[in-house]
Amino acid sequence: MILVVGGAGYVGSHLVKELVTEEDVVVLDNLSTGFEHLIDSQATFIKGNLGDRDILNKIFTEYPIKAVMHFAANSLVGESVTNPYKYYENNVGATLTLLKAMVDHNVKNFIFSSTAATYGIPHVDLIDETQPNNPINPYGKTKLMVEQILADFASAYQMNYIVLRYFNVAGAHQSGTIGESHDPETHLIPIILQHLLGQREQISVFGTDYDTPDGTCIRDYIHATDLAKAHILALHALLNDTQKNKIYNLGNGNGFSVREVIETCEKVTNKKAKIEFVERREGDPAKLVASSDKVQAELGWTPQFNLTQIIESAWNWHNK
Ligand code: UDP
Repeated sequence: MILVVGGAGYVGSHLVKELVTEEDVVVLDNLSTGFEHLIDSQATFIKGNLGDRDILNKIFTEYPIKAVMHFAANSLVGESVTNPYKYYENNVGATLTLLKAMVDHNVKNFIFSSTAATYGIPHVDLIDETQPNNPINPYGKTKLMVEQILADFASAYQMNYIVLRYFNVAGAHQSGTIGESHDPETHLIPIILQHLLGQREQISVFGTDYDTPDGTCIRDYIHATDLAKAHILALHALLNDTQKNKIYNLGNGNGFSVREVIETCEKVTNKKAKIEFVERREGDPAKLVASSDKVQAELGWTPQFNLTQIIESAWNWHNK
């Protein structure tokens, strides 16, 4: 049985959908940003905080949990700058409580959702895991802190972990039943699609003077289902003891500018977007593109969805 913390969120719910086909799953989620209807009906749902030691004791006593997958974090860069306490308390403090409960109940396997924000401003075109960590906002710092805690827990308490550093997750499940839904929405692809559905006046493009071919920021977009599949491979690796205590980037290895993403959305939907060009958004590096060579070589992961397919799946979900 696997405990998925944050299984009602956008990425967590995509993982649960894949995982229930091979494992019994318990989801712990406080529904602060997730939705109960996103959780696959085959999973057992417990509403609560990951920092609640009583709930954790109950779960680890009641269920034979062999691994924990942790998706429950606050993840808005801007909010982390204005409200760092929330981020350190939830992303670091509560996670530490979860990890201590695992140690006390002898649960050894942990898969952690981390982020490309740990790299800060990169100095290379393709970021691999040997690049230095220098996060430029509290969100990235909280994720890096947990990675550091995990390394210490591995050597002191024999915890086995795999860290997955996400680039830009997008897209929706092919069933059309789950997809990306944040309130407020800040992410580029859902914002464009909401505009093309008539739910927003226009799209604001943040900055046109970046050092990129068209002046707008370049990102590496990866489908939520591809990401979920990487988590399943990471789980197999931990349970079969073929890999442990590793950090992997998860991206498609292709960069697309904000303008290119908007054009692809226009093509997929056959609609024309109204765009305004505004100032840069604070904390945005010009270009973030992953080298995923390591995860491909060591876990045998290959992404299946390109940008057009990611947008098609998201459009299918938004239309519903
Ligand atoms: N972006 C934009 N307008 C928006 C939302 C995002 O121009 O309304 C840009 C943003 O500045 C970044 C890229 O789109 O360069 C992806 O942003 P998103 O918030 O989706 O993901 P992030 O890269 O911040 O994780």
